Amino acid sequence: MSTAAAAPSFDPCDPVAVAQALIRCPSVTPEDGGALGVLEAALAPLGFVCHRLRFEEEGTAPVDNLYARLGREGPNFCFAGHTDVVPPGELKGWSLDPFAAEIHNGRLYGRGAVDMKGAIAAFVAAAARHVKAGGAPKGSISLLITGDEEGVAINGTRKVLDWMQAKGEKLDACVVGEPTNPKALGDMIKIGRRGSMTAFLTVHGAQGHVAYPHLADNPLPRLARMLAAITAEPLDAGTPHFQPSNLELTTIDVGNPAHNVIPAQGKATLNIRFNDLHTADTLLAWLRERLDRVGGSYELDHFVSGDSFLTPPGPLTELVADAAERVTGRRPEYSTTGGTSDARFIKNFCPVVEFGLVGQTMHKVDEHTALDDLTRLTDIYGEVLRNVFDRLG
Ligand SMILES: [Zn+2]
Repeated sequence: MSTAAAAPSFDPCDPVAVAQALIRCPSVTPEDGGALGVLEAALAPLGFVCHRLRFEEEGTAPVDNLYARLGREGPNFCFAGHTDVVPPGELKGWSLDPFAAEIHNGRLYGRGAVDMKGAIAAFVAAAARHVKAGGAPKGSISLLITGDEEGVAINGTRKVLDWMQAKGEKLDACVVGEPTNPKALGDMIKIGRRGSMTAFLTVHGAQGHVAYPHLADNPLPRLARMLAAITAEPLDAGTPHFQPSNLELTTIDVGNPAHNVIPAQGKATLNIRFNDLHTADTLLAWLRERLDRVGGSYELDHFVSGDSFLTPPGPLTELVADAAERVTGRRPEYSTTGGTSDARFIKNFCPVVEFGLVGQTMHKVDEHTALDDLTRLTDIYGEVLRNVFDRLG
């Protein structure tokens, strides 16, 4: 824990300066690159109590995280995000150095500019302005920042939340700063996410000579019938806030180089993105029912990256939508599309929505954000901070 820190070399009220300081830290997962230190330097002088949390587990790289809180009273409003970034890839593809944070034609370039150092900078600047304007919170403002979102996400948000629970740190509402807007700031708030499950099917038979099939048992016709059975009909037709669940076969593998051998087994992998009508357990039962109808010996393994969740439209979604509308003039759509995020862990602790920058260049070469978007996102987060304790308290 550190409560005092040297004054930062940048103005914490300026989102562009904070974003540049963050982008200049090469924090490709699991490296921190100094990014959390930038945040501590900005937050500690404002009165935030900062906890650096390093987690590690056998077989994984240690990862640094930060939990910072201003105020001791509830409710505790939390901004969550990640300072780690995906690798820049081939440097030749970039027009500007991905870690130089250069400004060109009104845009800030660099890895993490939109996913999601820009949004973190916007929230830090909004909090700094709020505090300097004398708006000490009626509750608490906190930041939960992980360095392990783009990787395996084992030593990140999930462990910080466990640590918080053990310390009696309660969260009452959370905004995650992922780049949720498809084209323009104000397009979209994510109010939930689909779940994701990957399943591995192995169908067993008995190897043999193709000319003596009565001495063998070919698993491939059964594998083909099983895959036909699970793709024959959609899982559902969607729900009021979710698109239909979707099952995709991602690979079918036999690996049999011989034209005269019946193989002993065949394998297939599939991924299901599922809505709030399903859980991993109900999906496994749905799959097994169809596989059993074909029959024969098979194994079904799986892993779940996240269950689906929904924060139904209510005080938190309205708070963020009103703030976005006031600044951009447009009312964001509520959506549950896209991949998973750390909101999948936070939803077990408090209502959570996601709103950040425009996602068009995330994970791409020449990732960039318009400076104007950074400024307006800061205003939106500021509007949220001004109203959150009256409206959610
Ligand atoms: Zn992200």
